[in-house]
Amino acid sequence: KKLGVALVGLGMYSTGQLGPALKQTKHCRLSAVVTGSPEKGRQWARDYGFPESSVYGYDTMGRLADNKDVDIVYVVTPPALHARDCIAAAKAGKHVLCEKPMEVSTAQCDVIINACKAAGVKLSIGYRLHFDPFHEELRKLVRSQEFGPFMTMTGGFAFSMQKAQWRAEKALAGGGPLMDLGIYVVQEACMAAGATPVAATATVHPKKRPEFFKDVEESISWTLEFPNGAKCESFTSYDAGRNDFRAEAKGGWFELKPAFNYGGIAGATSRGPLVIAGVNQQALQMDDFALCVLNGQESRVGGAMGRRDMAIVEAIYASAAGGGKRVEVR
Ligand code: NAD
Repeated sequence: KKLGVALVGLGMYSTGQLGPALKQTKHCRLSAVVTGSPEKGRQWARDYGFPESSVYGYDTMGRLADNKDVDIVYVVTPPALHARDCIAAAKAGKHVLCEKPMEVSTAQCDVIINACKAAGVKLSIGYRLHFDPFHEELRKLVRSQEFGPFMTMTGGFAFSMQKAQWRAEKALAGGGPLMDLGIYVVQEACMAAGATPVAATATVHPKKRPEFFKDVEESISWTLEFPNGAKCESFTSYDAGRNDFRAEAKGGWFELKPAFNYGGIAGATSRGPLVIAGVNQQALQMDDFALCVLNGQESRVGGAMGRRDMAIVEAIYASAAGGGKRVEVR
């Protein structure tokens, strides 16, 4: 049986990646959409072959409760709206997939976790790289400890943002590139360390376009410190290009460049280049959650992980606000 998925928010990610990926999934299919534009919704209904009665607005999501064709609701709106949409989904009795960053604060992450718990539905975060085979190589090295612990890590994810959008608005994004892109480097550092960091130190860089980035950072550097003393030096920006991660241990190293793309990831270890066929990360991610629902298992990228990353982000921002002092992750 294929589970029905409702996409909430038909923006770039839904249109460019998730919709097409849902045509490749084995265990789920697109069966409804939630959008502010009924006309766009009807077009999706025609393109994906579901009834026009399965096009909802943000204010009519409650009616999803009556739609037996929807098992999973995938929230793909700007971060500060994730709690609103996840709560509506959970109250309608649907399992919830929530895009990254999970929300804009740990308090809001807790709101989502509690709503899903109260409704008895499963919760997963859109951390697609956990379903990518290049990143699986890193996790294998961490599990086997073949190189020993990765003690020195560096990573950066940045692009030059030209178009005005919610990503530069604190009220919708919760912050700047750290929330949107830096979170990938945070994720990867935790993966490589196999642990949650104990503390962060951070510096916000002077803005080149202050008129564009009024109330969010444009570029930020930070260092995470792990319980065993491992460190990850990290960078993110909306003014530059970077897409890399490297982890070094006594017995070897692991590197990806580009590291965080949907496809076309490349990399090597101290043993040689990684020769791996690409996959559709989003299709694998959605199929994995569908199987969790079908088999009664918890997602490997659950709400606790989304909240953990938000706690790290909060420590990074607190350090930057405090002039770069060391702030413990709570
Ligand atoms: P987008 O701006 O292209 O789409 C956002 C959608 O939300 C639009 O359809 C918009 O109409 C809708 N929306 C509803 N209420 C809104 C409001 N009040 N203000 C603004 N928009 C509103 O953004 P996107 O790039 O598709 O990102 C959406 C989510 O997906 C974000 O959480 C983002 O971080 C995440 N994302 C994840 C990945 C990934 O690789 N996992 C990639 C891109 C985006």
